Amino acid sequence: CWARIRGRLRDEVGEVEYRTWLRQMTLAGIDGEEAVILLPTRFLRDWVNSHYGDRLRALWQGEDASIRRVEIRVAQAASAEPVLADGEAAPARAEPAGLAESLAPSRPAELRAPEPRSDWVVPLEARFTFDTFVVGKPNEFAHACARRVAERPASPGFNPLFLYGGVGLGKTHLMHAIAWAIREGETARTVAYMSAEKFMYRFIAALRSQSTMEFKETLRAVDVLMIDDLQFLIGKDNTQEEFFHTFNALVDQGKQIVVSSDKPPSDLAGIEDRLRTRLGCGMVADLHATTYELRLSILQAKAAAAQVLVPAKVMELLATKITTNVRELEGALNRLVAHANLFGRPITIDSAHEVLHDVLRAHEKRVSIEEIQRKVAEHYNLRLTDMVSARRARNVARPRQVAMYLAKHLTQRSLPEIGRRFGNRDHTTVMHAVSRVSELIAQDAGFAEDVALLRKMLET
Ligand code: ADP
Ligand code: MG
Repeated sequence: CWARIRGRLRDEVGEVEYRTWLRQMTLAGIDGEEAVILLPTRFLRDWVNSHYGDRLRALWQGEDASIRRVEIRVAQAASAEPVLADGEAAPARAEPAGLAESLAPSRPAELRAPEPRSDWVVPLEARFTFDTFVVGKPNEFAHACARRVAERPASPGFNPLFLYGGVGLGKTHLMHAIAWAIREGETARTVAYMSAEKFMYRFIAALRSQSTMEFKETLRAVDVLMIDDLQFLIGKDNTQEEFFHTFNALVDQGKQIVVSSDKPPSDLAGIEDRLRTRLGCGMVADLHATTYELRLSILQAKAAAAQVLVPAKVMELLATKITTNVRELEGALNRLVAHANLFGRPITIDSAHEVLHDVLRAHEKRVSIEEIQRKVAEHYNLRLTDMVSARRARNVARPRQVAMYLAKHLTQRSLPEIGRRFGNRDHTTVMHAVSRVSELIAQDAGFAEDVALLRKMLET
């Protein structure tokens, strides 16, 4: 009955929408008149509740008139990867799994929905597919390699595939995309995906319960083994050893390995040489830092997928300010969308500034007073000590005022604090400097240009 309801819902909403929002639903059970459905995060629960809740209720009624209520709850054990779609703190990482649980999804058995395939089920994030991965210059090579591995696992030259790059640049997304593609492909293949941390916990649990043989056999029976965030295996000698043996056994049998890390194999200090060598001998692909263009494309794609209208100016603001991590970029967009939905108001540049006040501030380039003093001194050919000295000669006092002005505008420091940092001056001195420099900027184009240049140098 639950399978039919899911099927009907899938037919109604279409594959893409189903996969984005509904795929992770599981039936926890039926309690009298109430059916309880679980989703892994609060965000998903709220979304499904508000967008599909009524439909779910109606479908249940159609199948089983004794069900009067449908409760949608957050499953206790979250999926292995924190889902950050909502920009909230990630749910606590799943606890180290015991061996009994190690080959199953991280949800307790009674909460598990029957799975269509009997392969080694891993908690893959529904959103992380190739369809939703936006390709641009910084990631096109890694993406092409991932595609290639998904199409033809274990082809020579691509085994292992080693993906590396900074936090939030799409490593996990690409790995899940490979896993989805392989699981949905024609050939039945077993895919095992886990973080290095989980690999370690499972291995240690197996050691403890004296079931390492079982652990090894299961691992060596998969067709594709993916280990995410390998840097966490650093220094864990016997886990590394085990991984090395598994790795060799699989590669020898013509199975595919995919590994991710925050560094290239050559920089993985604390990983044994022989493992490092083997890791680097397939395809090594780098996810580079995003460019403005890629960030903008990602935002456009996400806004389109969420079917919300986001003004170009707002996307430009986000793409300019939130530069390091796609996850945070996404989180900011989701916050805007949630806010707009909650209050039934469109997203505007003003609402963006208001809602994301804290995020934007946190991403402002933090310039220190010391840096300002150094740059200004350099620019005017002075010594750093002139910035804090008592000298009042114009050629020293004016640049010092400029530095105070910049400190006021580029840092979050208060006037008294700035005064203290400029040789224990009073806050009124700083105030005077700020207004004097503002006046000069208005009167003297050459001076204005000078200050603008300094500002630019400090901000970029
Ligand atoms: P990593 O594993 O490298 O830390 P993730 O794969 O978890 O990063 O990516 C962080 C978030 O950013 C995810 O929600 C992911 O979907 C998103 N993301 C990263 N790169 C892209 C991209 N190129 N296109 C779409 N989404 C992306
Ligand atoms: Mg990751």
